[in-house]
This record gives sequence, structure tokens and C-alpha cells, in this order.
Amino acid sequence: MERENKLLIICLDGLDYYLTLKWKISKLLQKIHGRFYVGDIRILYTPLIWSSILCGFSVEEKGYGYEEAVRRSMGTLRVLHDLKKKIFGEKRFWIIRRLLIFLRLLRANFIMPTNLLRETFLEILEDRGYKVFALEVPGYNEINNGRFRLKMHELILSKKLEDRMAFIKEVKNDTINRFNKTQQALETYDVVMCYSPLPDLAHHLFLKGIKSRILIYKTYRWLEKNVDKYLLKPAYDLNFNVLILSDHGFDMKNFTHSNYAFWSSNVELSRPIKTYRDVKDNILNMLRGKNVEK
Ligand SMILES: [Zn+2]
Repeated sequence: MERENKLLIICLDGLDYYLTLKWKISKLLQKIHGRFYVGDIRILYTPLIWSSILCGFSVEEKGYGYEEAVRRSMGTLRVLHDLKKKIFGEKRFWIIRRLLIFLRLLRANFIMPTNLLRETFLEILEDRGYKVFALEVPGYNEINNGRFRLKMHELILSKKLEDRMAFIKEVKNDTINRFNKTQQALETYDVVMCYSPLPDLAHHLFLKGIKSRILIYKTYRWLEKNVDKYLLKPAYDLNFNVLILSDHGFDMKNFTHSNYAFWSSNVELSRPIKTYRDVKDNILNMLRGKNVEK
């Protein structure tokens, strides 16, 4: 049967290519796989990398760099943020920050400006007549990721492993919810894109020692099992093209994001994905067929 013009993109934050190979996380590796370079993005910040993947170019070069992204994410607090910067420079006020988080005024969600949103392959495909579903994509339409980002930063300051494990469990539950919604979307949409902040949050919280390594390994296996169950199996049955992407890997020596991200596909690609700049063209080529005139 000829493959229809349907595509599922599964975004797993920080999924490390080398670990996936080393641990033989075979379901996530699909038919073909590789790594791609993101190191020319000046600050390897998750929302900026996903934004750049969606647009096919570095959004920093178009004025959406780290500073601007943080500013925009503040919404109405932007005025205060600018004022604080003017008076105090880079000084941080943790009590005020905590208070703002508590009052749910600081959300840390990142959405690109409209002119960049229009450059994303999601909007282009929508213009071509595809029915597009996107859930919690950083830089595009995230709503809840910011809460996890803020909590992760708080937990980095706390020493308790149990707290960190409880948090990862909460993120796993949320991820299952997202996978569930995504699975349902496969029935009615042509292009489906979903995002989980795992395994990145586990990488940031389980750092040193054998126990941490085992917890990360378990997170990878957990992802493999659930991505397969909720997404891969149903998508293959419905004859979807499936891309799995990450935005960077993890440097386990320096505890920071690494320069190479992960991709895998169940179909051959029109050209190799060598950098984040190659993803958009590949996707647009893959779905050229429909091209519904408006
Ligand atoms: Zn990330």
C-alpha cells in the first residue's frame, strides 16, 4: 500500500544519540537513524533549538535570541523585567522570583514571535491544506512545559534524590497524558507533533553515581516502551511516516547539553539530516503530495 501523506513527529527532549545506541533502545532507533549538529546555536537553550528546528534556520539570527526569548516569555511582567535590568543589571532576586512563581505570574513558556511562527513547517503545512496537530511544542505552542522547567531549576538546588524521583514520576504521568491525546489525534489529523520534556529533565536531575545512571537508563527504557505502545504501533498501523527528534544530547561529564541531537525515521529521507537546518526541508519534501491550493 502506498504511504499516505501522513507524518508523526515525536519530540523527546535531550534524547542522546550515543546513549540510545549504546543501550540499544531499538524501538526509538526505528529503521534509519543518526545525529545532527546544533552547536552553532549560541546558547543551547531548549526553546531556541526547537524553534530553530521548526523554522529551518537559527532563530537567534532573526532576533529571537536568549535574552529576547526570556523577555517575551514574561508577558505583562516584561515592563518590570526591563526596568529591573535598567536599574540592577543582571542581578537576580530569588525571593521575588519565587513569589512570582508562587503567584503563577512567571510561567517560563516560550513562543516565537508571529513572523517566525509563519516560517515553521507546521504553519506551512497548514497552508498547504494539511490538518495539523501540535501538542506542547516549545517555541510554538507550549503551555505546561514552563512549570516543569521552573520546578527542575528549584530541584537542582535541593539535594534530596527522593524529591527528584517524585518529580520525574509526575513528568512521566504528564507525558502519558500527552501520548494519549497524540494517539487520538492520529485518527483524524495528517500531521501530528508531540513533545515530552523527557529524558532531558532526568539528565539534569540524576547526575552522578551508579544510581543516577540507572535512573537515566530506566527513563530511556520507559520512553521506549511507552512511545512504542501509544505512538509507534498505532502510527505504523495507520501508515504514518514517523520521525523521532531530540534537540540536543547530554554531556555527562560537564552536566550540560551537548552539540548533537537525535533523529530516527521509519522511511528513507530525501536528504540526510546533518544539522537542525535540514529537518524542515525533509519534512516539506516528504509531504509535498497534498499541496491543496487555497
Ligand atoms: Zn532540550
